[in-house]
Amino acid sequence: MAQQAIQITVQGIVQGVGFRPFVYRLARELQLSGTVANTGNGVILELQGKSENIAAFCSRLQNDPPPISRITGITTEDIPVQEQRSEFIILSSPQGERPNTQVSPDIALCADCIRELFDPLDRRYRYPFINCTNCGPRFSIIRTIPYDRPNTSMDVFTLCPQCKKEYHDPLDRRFHAQPNACPTCGPSLSWQDKDGKPIAVDDCIGACAEALARGKVVAIKGLGGFHLAADATAVSAVATLRKRKHRHKKPLAIMVRDLEQARKYCRISEQEAELLSSHRAPIVLLKKQENSALAENLAPDIGLLGLMLPYTPLHHLLLTEDNCPAALVMTSANLSGEPICIDNNEALTRLHGLADFFLLHNREIVTRVDDSVVRVMAKKTRIMRRGRGYVPEPLLLTHQTKNALGCGAEMKNTFCIVRNNEAFISQHIGELTSPRALDFYTESISHIQNILETDFQTVACDLHPDYLSTRFCRKQPAPRVRVQHHHAHATTVMAEHGLDEPVLAVLFDGTGYSDDGTVYGGEWYLAERRGYTRLAHLSLLPLPGGDKAVMEPWRTALSMLYQAKGEEGVHNHLPQSLLHIDHGRRAVIAQMIAERIHSPLTSSCGRLFDGVAGLLGLCLVADYEGQAAMELEHLAETDGDAQGAGRYRPILKNENGMLILDSRSLTLQILEDLQQGAAMNTIASAFHQWLLDGSINILLRLRQQTGLSSVVLGGGAFQNTILLEGLLTRGTAEGFSVFSGEQVPAGDGGIALGQVYIAGMAEK
Ligand code: ZN
Ligand code: ZN
Ligand code: FE
Repeated sequence: MAQQAIQITVQGIVQGVGFRPFVYRLARELQLSGTVANTGNGVILELQGKSENIAAFCSRLQNDPPPISRITGITTEDIPVQEQRSEFIILSSPQGERPNTQVSPDIALCADCIRELFDPLDRRYRYPFINCTNCGPRFSIIRTIPYDRPNTSMDVFTLCPQCKKEYHDPLDRRFHAQPNACPTCGPSLSWQDKDGKPIAVDDCIGACAEALARGKVVAIKGLGGFHLAADATAVSAVATLRKRKHRHKKPLAIMVRDLEQARKYCRISEQEAELLSSHRAPIVLLKKQENSALAENLAPDIGLLGLMLPYTPLHHLLLTEDNCPAALVMTSANLSGEPICIDNNEALTRLHGLADFFLLHNREIVTRVDDSVVRVMAKKTRIMRRGRGYVPEPLLLTHQTKNALGCGAEMKNTFCIVRNNEAFISQHIGELTSPRALDFYTESISHIQNILETDFQTVACDLHPDYLSTRFCRKQPAPRVRVQHHHAHATTVMAEHGLDEPVLAVLFDGTGYSDDGTVYGGEWYLAERRGYTRLAHLSLLPLPGGDKAVMEPWRTALSMLYQAKGEEGVHNHLPQSLLHIDHGRRAVIAQMIAERIHSPLTSSCGRLFDGVAGLLGLCLVADYEGQAAMELEHLAETDGDAQGAGRYRPILKNENGMLILDSRSLTLQILEDLQQGAAMNTIASAFHQWLLDGSINILLRLRQQTGLSSVVLGGGAFQNTILLEGLLTRGTAEGFSVFSGEQVPAGDGGIALGQVYIAGMAEK
């Protein structure tokens, strides 16, 4: 029989994901001898045996690798056959050489472990920290690389003889499972009252289920941070949680036992079901079922609900308890504007008064990582918030980009590190406004930089001089590049889709700093990596009160009235919804607008949504960012007969070569409709269609002007399905190639990627 020998080099996420045991078993099965080792250049395999078996090995490696590994490159090379070789051996990592492999994200509990968890004969029966090489904590417990137990927060638990045997046995499914643990040697739970006093119970999880069933709020320590949990089927429990968190309307995510249960609350497509059950186990935004048994105050006035399935053994145990509510609110346990709690003592202090009980454990969370949020739009999975299950997986850039750090912006912030053309987008940091958030941000940058062992040739930040991310950036030693907010939004999409040539960009966003003293946010650019030209924008609107207007849409509504009808507008043309604002207050706003006192001009799309929502009386004061837009979208979706289509004519003006989509005519049409008593959902839908019609008209003109027909869609307003799907469908129908964010959030959570894509560009 012909013997063959080859060397295979595998790169990607191939460490700590059951890769070597997989290779070991496969080699034995195919009667191949040789070695496998982690090296500085990836995993290196040497295989020897019958050539057809080697071929079979290569095909299985390519097509059926371990579920959570991610191979980014395989190279093979023939090597001489060795006479004496008869076994397959796992070699230990070469001394002094650091494996250049990547760190895996945290992985939801796998099917094998679920089986053992509920098997009364298994030694880990009902053990809340069961895991194996295919599942369990990773990124959240790693202190430094290489990913070995002493470098994780599992270092304080000494493996018992049985666990140790599993750990060292290449044929065991816990071979080199770094967080391996059992009831004898691993972490354990504790049940504590609201003041942190331990309560002696036989069964912490049973006690927790019982408390939740009684309407109590429990702080539960999870994988990447604490959750606040409450009965999602009880209005009063949800109301208690809301009151304590000072969150009156912000949508709360829920967790339910399984898909079957999930279908009782939400409409779930096959694609969405797959996402929910995937090893990433994100929160998926789903369409609510009408008249479900869920509390109506979970996500009021929007048609969506964030839902996830259990992803840790603790969740599985809790949700299968007999008396546990069928659906639990599981919301990040943090104070408004601060990062999620991860430490037991920190939680007991900071969540004091929020939680009635604490379900704690003694496995330290090293790195904070929130649940990821995804939504299927236009048939594709779109990440809204990158976190657990996705981070720190890199995105491969197809165009040369220097090693760089992108510092992000301010809201929903993330940063991005590029190393050797791989872009590592950080976990969701949140609003970068509090000292705690800043600590989390700076610690995370050093942590990921340390794990990646990289330096920056350049750093990039927003134009806004006062963002904490900008200030941080200024202190970095590497050369700094300042990037206009919406230019970065555009190049984020270019980077994700490997675009390097100039494109047209539609940028629908909240607010972004510009060079000309106005606040941008509804823009059409010609964008390229080296720069951008603003070709069109929404007409400018004064924002009385500046940033205050973001949370108080009634201000922008008055501004629209003023723009449409002058001072008289805010007094004599008030829609029903704004009548209660007293005359004096309206006069002050009118004066602010007239004299331009603390009333910056903006072309923001987000603010236009606010204004329209205010005119309709939907959301006069917002409880969370984006609320007005979400409620308006939901209302528009109920316009079943598409009464709104083509109802409002978009008017384009040309001011010195700049196209302006005129919002004054929009306001006049809305006021007319309000006066005639048109249905609210018709108006909401007509507004969306007006924006789409206007955009398509602008794109058609710009294509003529520039000859470009590739379009990128960027900015937070593209979390709106009507806008995203509308521009994708209609743009494509008009012959444009339209690109939008998938792996990377459309909003500010993705902006750091665009920053590095610009800053990291090689000089010509
Ligand atoms: Zn497992
Ligand atoms: Zn053990
Ligand atoms: Fe933005």
